[in-house]
Amino acid sequence: MAPITKQYDYIVIGGGSGGSGTARRASGWYGAKTCIIDAGVSGGTCVNVGCVPKKMTWNFASINETIKAGKHYGYNFDNGYSFDFKSFVEKRDARIKVLNGAYENNWAKEGIELIHGTATFVNEHELEVTPKHGGDPFRVTAPHITIATGSFPTKPENIPGSEYGITSDEFFLIKHLPKTMVFVGAGYIAVELAGVMNALGVETHLFIRHNTFLRKFDPMIQETMTQHYEDLGVHVHRNHPGIKEVVPVQAAADASDPREKQLKIISNDGTELITNELLWAIGRGPEIRGLGVDKIPVKRTKSGHIAVDKYQNTSVEGVYALGDVTGQAELTPVAIAAGRQLGNRLFGPPELKDSHLEYDKIPSVVFSHPEVGSTGLTEPEAIEKYGKDKVKVYRTRFSAMYYDVFPPEEKKKEPTEFKLVTILPDEKIVGLHILGKGCDEMLQGFGVAVKMGATKKDFDSCVAIHPTSAEELVTLR
Ligand code: NDP
Repeated sequence: MAPITKQYDYIVIGGGSGGSGTARRASGWYGAKTCIIDAGVSGGTCVNVGCVPKKMTWNFASINETIKAGKHYGYNFDNGYSFDFKSFVEKRDARIKVLNGAYENNWAKEGIELIHGTATFVNEHELEVTPKHGGDPFRVTAPHITIATGSFPTKPENIPGSEYGITSDEFFLIKHLPKTMVFVGAGYIAVELAGVMNALGVETHLFIRHNTFLRKFDPMIQETMTQHYEDLGVHVHRNHPGIKEVVPVQAAADASDPREKQLKIISNDGTELITNELLWAIGRGPEIRGLGVDKIPVKRTKSGHIAVDKYQNTSVEGVYALGDVTGQAELTPVAIAAGRQLGNRLFGPPELKDSHLEYDKIPSVVFSHPEVGSTGLTEPEAIEKYGKDKVKVYRTRFSAMYYDVFPPEEKKKEPTEFKLVTILPDEKIVGLHILGKGCDEMLQGFGVAVKMGATKKDFDSCVAIHPTSAEELVTLR
């Protein structure tokens, strides 16, 4: 039996956004003796294969869109222009390495010990660690242990050949753009990554099971964005019957270059499509592989995520969980905020003993083309909660000034659309849904207002900033 080698006040399993957030609060603010055990690369999904590389790639693709818009403004590209995706990816990866280092520096500065290895529960206060870079397993123990191991992108288990497709993790290995690419899924990841590829000139197919994508969003967003993706040239396969089989025709010599790769995708209706790459974006599963949670055992939700209460407590005293592994609003800032609150509650002064994250009215943005922003209830959710006669909706659709110089038929296709969902009699805003150019940056401030309980009258009392798209939100009739 491996001897207990180290005792801590706080052990955090997982060095992603949530794990880092809670460890830094516990150690940096309150001096708890803390370690992070991380099996992967510091920074977790967000930094390495999520928000950061995704947003940088979205920026890269948006520049291509801006160049195209430039033609309408009178910029001349008669001699063409080109871009070098590989060199961009190398710059992006270099930036990520800097961030990996920044995470580790911050932990070191704040007295957090980083252990590279895989942790497995022995009991509720003790973990066995298998070091990543060799050496004997050892044990660590603490009265408080937080599971912040995140999630992983899933592939379907029952489709022959599904393993020949990739997930968002491998998307970020691509250095040479394929000619054609198929995306399966209808959530953030499918919509964001399909949008990027389409904007870069890749023939993009999106297989969705229903008539619209982003179905957890307000119907306005679902309908407008699905239509707009079609207008942009994405082949949206609405009501797709599902894939029956994926047949490898030709393999790629290296994962960074899918240009030579060929897959035959056979759908359940018998149709076939040959493509260079297939990406599954059908959801993410809790990363508890090898963690030994069954040994404690903590309660799990129906989807297999670790069940927690509003304080991030699991069913086992002294064991907590936060972030994607809990399946609660799988967003980086949610994990960070939940982690900090947990750090406050466990190690902060008595007045913070009730600290917890409020999971309602969390704003989020889909980096689609154009961007989508949303906070609070959708219109159907508000009707279900408050009753139809209590819900008053304000809505507008217009063409942003940016598109004024576009040919009319193209201008017409560029949507900007806003919706406020309010509750009578005082018209408290319970939902705000926006899509259009600039909505990513627009949402945060409105998110504060909605979180504070703003009413329509509060919005109306704020003087508009002209000329912007955002001003339409304070002048809705
Ligand atoms: P999501 O759970 O958001 O979406 C996956 C969707 O794919 C499902 O909702 C479902 O939609 C569809 N789907 C599920 N199974 C299948 C199937 N077998 N075949 C076809 N379609 C299927 O997962 P994602 O992977 O997109 O993202 C995971 C999480 O990561 C998100 O929930 C989000 O919280 C987070 N994220 C956030 C981002 C951001 O903030 N910008 C960016 C990226 C990720 P339907 O029922 O309509 O078919």
